[in-house]
Amino acid sequence: MFSDGEFGICRNIRRESKRYINLNPIQRGGIIPKETIPILNEWLDGYSICDFCEGRLEDIKSPPIEKFVHDILPKFLDIDIVRLTNGAREAKFAVMHALCKSNDRILIDQNAHYSTFISAERLNLEIHEVPNSGYPEFKINPEDYAEKIEEVNPRLVLLTYPDGNYGNLPDARRVGKICSEYGIPLILNCAYSVGRMPISARKLNADFIIGSGHKSMASSGPIGILGIKGEWEDEILRKSKRYKNKEIEFLGCGPRGLPTVSLMASFPYVAKRVERWDKEVEKARYFIKKIEEIDGIRQLGEKPKNHDLIFIESSRFYEISKRHKKGRFFLYHELKKRGIIGIKPGLTKNFKMSTYQLKKNELNMVIDAFSEIANL
Ligand SMILES: *Cc1c(COP(=O)(O)O)cnc(C)c1O
Repeated sequence: MFSDGEFGICRNIRRESKRYINLNPIQRGGIIPKETIPILNEWLDGYSICDFCEGRLEDIKSPPIEKFVHDILPKFLDIDIVRLTNGAREAKFAVMHALCKSNDRILIDQNAHYSTFISAERLNLEIHEVPNSGYPEFKINPEDYAEKIEEVNPRLVLLTYPDGNYGNLPDARRVGKICSEYGIPLILNCAYSVGRMPISARKLNADFIIGSGHKSMASSGPIGILGIKGEWEDEILRKSKRYKNKEIEFLGCGPRGLPTVSLMASFPYVAKRVERWDKEVEKARYFIKKIEEIDGIRQLGEKPKNHDLIFIESSRFYEISKRHKKGRFFLYHELKKRGIIGIKPGLTKNFKMSTYQLKKNELNMVIDAFSEIANL
């Protein structure tokens, strides 16, 4: 039925890119530490964690998922309840779905991730945005939330912390305070922060905290975590009438098998790296200082930088692309020649990158590569 050629296609999936320094911001926080690998190898089979399940994934005692989900993760997020989902987007959708009905209004920041817009669209919500400050910093002013809440009267509020474009960290605590004053629940989308930096739902006044395992918690994923403040328990954890222990918003079961194991096995590594977050911010600032010494390269988004996700505006690379024989793909090729990938092929003028967890020598290689390429 299938030719050898077709089978060949399926088997020809070696990952050559593993040899390179990867600057892709979505990938830097999802790199699996060495100590996790042998554990993962034991759990590769489908439904591997379900041997001792009595009907609820988060109550499985062997492996000790129960302790992980009910004790360790709530302590990590400083929140009452945690559930696992198939990703940050599924967590957002679950909360929106539980709390809103069609045509309800939701208030989100203009810097929100596309999956926030799509989750709201899937539910037919009316989306209202708190605008950013525009070029060059694109900041979200927390006080604008008060004004917009008055104007829109939303059912639910969301803030992206940080956003996935500029890596801006708005004053989430202040937004949380405002939302609690109006009695409107706040989702903090922490896909780029939980697992990288210390996050306390309680300190930030968040009703819901969302993280992404494959984005920021050194997991293979796909997996998301949803922190829930106790007062929302009944609404979010609504149970099926027919299957008494199955929670409806999670379709009865969280991520089954490898994604959950990878999140657990990497957790000690993640919890420790979070403690060194200030070093990562220092590194990002050092990188920006160095590359801004090049004429025609600057960082957009808030200054000084408080996160490793960096948005770059580069009129210099753009000018070069106009006369280079590879055109707008020149930057990708020149970086690759120097052992670096992760900047989207074809981009030269505006692009995103991350310095997260780069070693000193890798960081310097990237800085040198930028300077050399700028002088082509
Ligand atoms: C990456 C990202 C997401 C999506 O995360 P998934 O876990 O893949 O669903 C959502 N929001 C933000 C801000 C992100 O950066």
